[in-house]
Amino acid sequence: MSIQNRVKEIQQRIEAAALRSGRAVADIHVIGVTKYVSTERTVEALHAGVLELGENRWQVAKPKWEYIHEHKDKLPEPIWHYIGSLQSNKVKDVVGRFDYIHSLDRISLAEAIQKYAEKHDLTVKCFIQVNVSGEQSKQGLNPEEVMAFAEQLQGYDRIIPVGLMTMAPFEMKAEQTRPVFAGLRKLRDELLRQLGADCTIRELSMGMSNDFEVAIEEGATYVRLGTSLIGTEEDEG
Ligand SMILES: *Cc1c(COP(=O)(O)O)cnc(C)c1O
Repeated sequence: MSIQNRVKEIQQRIEAAALRSGRAVADIHVIGVTKYVSTERTVEALHAGVLELGENRWQVAKPKWEYIHEHKDKLPEPIWHYIGSLQSNKVKDVVGRFDYIHSLDRISLAEAIQKYAEKHDLTVKCFIQVNVSGEQSKQGLNPEEVMAFAEQLQGYDRIIPVGLMTMAPFEMKAEQTRPVFAGLRKLRDELLRQLGADCTIRELSMGMSNDFEVAIEEGATYVRLGTSLIGTEEDEG
């Protein structure tokens, strides 16, 4: 299927999920995850109106990022999301190139981001990654650590914490993911209540190809779609 048709189909499914839960479609951002595909298909996605792009490794993102950057006069300008786990020594690759980091999950990483951003006079929008499901293999803070972490982040003026991010366990059926996403929403509401009007942590980055409709019903404001929206190598001509 062409990306154009995929975009239409996914848009309809998003609209239906928004309607079911009484939400505005305009509040839901779609991140097209391009990590499985070529530069060519990534550019095709941009032309099809997918203007927010997600990648989880700089090495994989690099040719696409550089091509799009070099052709910025001729191409729609994307918003770049870094959605993979981030080692502190890779901060230099990501900060300044990506508009959002979805995987802030420890103070040592905040230190590294702050230091690099200060040196280059930048600010970085970050999601705090939370391991809601409690799976051993998953990145992210435990839910009970998030409040203290958010308070600590107030000391890092180059970091703008914009929301929370989570991933549901891969093997879960869509409907089983609901408590995970509801859990992240409740945590966000709790932060807003406790940290008050200054709290900038409002967005919820949750939902992937197999569970995004449930995530939207539970309040997702950013869904991250690879396979379903952009496709994989197998979909490339
Ligand atoms: C790969 C990836 C996605 C997209 O996965 P699909 O199931 O292909 O939609 C979303 N979020 C993260 C963090 C990823 O690494």
